[in-house]
Amino acid sequence: MPRPQPATSSRARSDRLPWSVVANVVRGLVWALLVCMTWSPAQAETAKLRVATRIVPPMVVEKNGTLTGFSIELWNSIGRQLNRETEYVVLPDVRELLDAVGHGQADLAIAAISITSEREDRFDFSQPIMNSGLQILVRGTAVNVEANPLRELAQLFFSRTLLVWLGIALLLILVPAHLMFLVERTHHSGIIPTRNYFPGIFHAMFWAAGTLATQADQMPRHWMARIVAVLWMFTGVVFVAFYTAQLTASLTVQQIKGPINGPQDLVGKTVGTTRGSTATAYLNEVKAQMVEFEKVDDLYNALLNHEIDAVVFDAPALLYYTTHDGRGSARTVGEVFHKEDYGIVFPTGSPLRKQVNEALLGLRESDRYQRIYEEWFGKR
Ligand code: GLU
Repeated sequence: MPRPQPATSSRARSDRLPWSVVANVVRGLVWALLVCMTWSPAQAETAKLRVATRIVPPMVVEKNGTLTGFSIELWNSIGRQLNRETEYVVLPDVRELLDAVGHGQADLAIAAISITSEREDRFDFSQPIMNSGLQILVRGTAVNVEANPLRELAQLFFSRTLLVWLGIALLLILVPAHLMFLVERTHHSGIIPTRNYFPGIFHAMFWAAGTLATQADQMPRHWMARIVAVLWMFTGVVFVAFYTAQLTASLTVQQIKGPINGPQDLVGKTVGTTRGSTATAYLNEVKAQMVEFEKVDDLYNALLNHEIDAVVFDAPALLYYTTHDGRGSARTVGEVFHKEDYGIVFPTGSPLRKQVNEALLGLRESDRYQRIYEEWFGKR
């Protein structure tokens, strides 16, 4: 028979139960409070926004270690409207900006980022922040550079190719000249009139140079020297053939390199732009010889240092360059082609986009946008 439970023990249990429930409830409340304090959406909204950007004047300019420029000032105004602080992350090129947004290392990116269908497929863009497009930048200030055949001929004479070939010829003639000198000087009626190294070697070098360029005008007497002479004459034929081919190629390249007055003149030219930019796709299409640069400044310097024939890049950036640092040393040619718009990039589905668009349109409706624009590009 089961023993009846003593009445006291059941009372004791019913006394303990409410205390443990209260303790659990209190613990739960404290936990919920802690979670709310650290993770509440209100708190998340006040976290700094990580904004990826890159130096591309005048959209993004670095002055004494601080960022400024059209895009930066526009973003600062948007950030103020959103009541959010910004932490800028400066990256080297546009591809890395897009990657940072794609990999969640940045909440958004703003610089001179063109809106393209391919990028729209991978990201979300804001409303356009500015119109842009591609344009060509060349050296000099003259409106029309006339072809000057005399100058081109002089350039050819002092070109690297010609100097290299001259150097090779000089080194090459030392070999038969020495062989000729050693063998022929011992022969009583040989073509080297003296046994002394100087001036004997000069006679031998003169013979070797003459034989290389034209024909041997004197035949050596010693049988060994004759073998050297025949071999050297064959070498001369091959050398002249190669040299002529090089010269013809250089002349042809120079002829192709007429002045650049528009996109149609870019074919076959060495054209620089920035790495991963929309201009790279364009230059690949038009079959230009493309050189990509990370820094925009390096791109302009390469043009001024004659490393490239032209620059194809964003028209607003080129316009700024020709009126600032590049004034008097470079100019744009032709119209703006390949029209594009700049936008702010977000990861697909970012809730920020709507807020940013609202702020942006608000700035456009007030005169704030216009003021920032005029500060960097002048009055339209
Ligand atoms: N508009 C160019 C692009 O989006 C700019 C590239 C750059 O910043 O170098 O591709």
